[in-house]
Amino acid sequence: MAIQFIDLKAQYQALKQDIDARIQRVLDHGQYIMGPEVTELETRLADYTGASHCITVASGTEALLISLMAIDLKPGDEVITTPFTFVATAEVIALLGAVPVFVDIEPDTCNIDASKIEAAITAKTRAIMPVSLYGQPADMDEINEIAARHNLVVIEDAAQSFGSEYKGRKSCNLSTIGCTSFFPSKPLGCYGDGGAIFTSDPNLAKACKEIRVHGQEKRYVHSRIGVGGRMDTIQCAVVLGKLERFNWEIEQRLKIGARYNALLKDKVQIVTQRNDRTSVFAQYTVIIENRAAVQEALKGQGVPTAVHYPVPLNRQSAYAGLSRVSGAVTHSEWMADRVMSLPMSADLDESQQEEIVHRIIETLSKD
Ligand SMILES: *Cc1c(COP(=O)(O)O)cnc(C)c1O
Repeated sequence: MAIQFIDLKAQYQALKQDIDARIQRVLDHGQYIMGPEVTELETRLADYTGASHCITVASGTEALLISLMAIDLKPGDEVITTPFTFVATAEVIALLGAVPVFVDIEPDTCNIDASKIEAAITAKTRAIMPVSLYGQPADMDEINEIAARHNLVVIEDAAQSFGSEYKGRKSCNLSTIGCTSFFPSKPLGCYGDGGAIFTSDPNLAKACKEIRVHGQEKRYVHSRIGVGGRMDTIQCAVVLGKLERFNWEIEQRLKIGARYNALLKDKVQIVTQRNDRTSVFAQYTVIIENRAAVQEALKGQGVPTAVHYPVPLNRQSAYAGLSRVSGAVTHSEWMADRVMSLPMSADLDESQQEEIVHRIIETLSKD
């Protein structure tokens, strides 16, 4: 069988009965917007992470945007983040007229370097937005400590890390606010767009809920500016179905990631995993030279790969005049030229994985 980069079909086949039944129930009760599955999912996910509140929203991007609106981010304010991420992280900051301030990553984990954050703080800084890249949380204790000293909010961009743990606590519940995405290929995905915000602060939870429906306090009473940011009932039903074997999937992801590590670590540079946290491997990523040629050779042998991400955000033209770089971001730029993600999903079987590794090692040795 051909190797899939992410095998969503195998997952659906395993869960088909339950997911189909849940979708059918929504079609039968007809509450397509804010139906009972929405609250059911919010309760389940809040329990899972340990956060007091979960607010489902239209996407991961919307989760980040609504969070920033909930803390009342103003034009000219600054938010410290990493340039080595998906564009949405910085996009929502710029969309509100605020300034993304880029701090470099650690050269081994690819996550924001907490030791460089304090130098980026100014009188205009309002928040720090670390990204749990590829599924592994950043140094959240250190980041929370810096934030507390400077009265800043920490928003974890956990779009890739739902299910990961940091010092025994779940991603999305590691700081004031955590945001995740249910984009189909994420560790917990739906069959369209979806996302969620997590917080244990009741005022922020209330603000997020209101902003999600046009800043509506009650029907037709608008005390703040909001968005149309709800997640559809059918998509919530799909995520509820996915939860049926989510714990098994997380175990599989950890196992497959550990196996990749063991098989590859002496052959190629890999992203370092810290001992006090896990990664759910939204991506399994290696660091290589001559990437384009290696990708092409692997493609010819039926091994799909991808790049997350080829251009650091400080180099994107849209952000040229709207962002600021604090210090140098040389590690981010170096990584952007060399990272390559390998096939990864809970349904990837051992023989397929060995095949992938075998072909990578063979390709690199010919280089
Ligand atoms: C996927 C992703 C997002 C955006 O999520 P969507 O649901 O696609 O809007 C934001 N940040 C990171 C790091 C992501 O990987």
